[in-house]
Amino acid sequence: MKCVFSKPAAINDSVMHYCPGCGHGVAHRLVAEALDHFGILERTVGVAPVGCAVLMYDYFNCDVLEAPHGRAPAIATGMKRTRPDHVIFTYQGDGDLASIGLSEIVHCANRGENVTVIFINNTVYGMTGGQMAPTTLLGQNTTTSPFGRNLNADGYPIRMAEMLSTLEGTSFVARMALDSPGNILKARKMVFTAFDMQVRNIGFSFVELLAACPTNWGLSPSASIRRIKEELVQYFPLGIFKEKVKADYL
Ligand code: SF4
Repeated sequence: MKCVFSKPAAINDSVMHYCPGCGHGVAHRLVAEALDHFGILERTVGVAPVGCAVLMYDYFNCDVLEAPHGRAPAIATGMKRTRPDHVIFTYQGDGDLASIGLSEIVHCANRGENVTVIFINNTVYGMTGGQMAPTTLLGQNTTTSPFGRNLNADGYPIRMAEMLSTLEGTSFVARMALDSPGNILKARKMVFTAFDMQVRNIGFSFVELLAACPTNWGLSPSASIRRIKEELVQYFPLGIFKEKVKADYL
């Protein structure tokens, strides 16, 4: 029997470049476990974002395309339409998906493209130095909001999962936090469900993962985990917002 702690076959032995305490490593593992579970590694194509996960093609053992900033859903659409037998997923951060790529993700979801989107929400632009993102919380200090995000000047943080769940084209939309073993297991189940939706041709699936960015938050890894629970989850509620057909993989 395979040990639950062993490395998924979908992840290679490269040393990841992520900072200590970063949520990307956990999120990568959940995706890799799903590819292993469904036996789809050989026919999966990932689409990498611009952002801290830009090098994800170095870590997965499947093919990965690099998209221009925010355009991963458009690339995924083209891949899926030309190779409908393949499993296509995008992996995007909040700057990539919710800012410059907002149009692409909304229309991809609204068209009901049969692809899977993994959305990492850490409330900042990570790679470029911690600027304010569409998901930055009110009052949160960033390099471009040094006095805190201001409602009058900057508007509200955007809740992507809730917004996309209102579109007729979406089949599965969920959000979970990577802040505790229990929630990581729930996130794992959501990621599995999202890929299951695509494998069964049910349609567009989207999982938002609240993740730590200790470097740009200016916090230790453990304090970052506490911040997810004490601040992020208060504004970004956890749960399944839409599930057209119940998963049958368990
Ligand atoms: S800057 Fe933040 S999101 Fe980027 S690798 Fe470091 S901790 Fe992770």
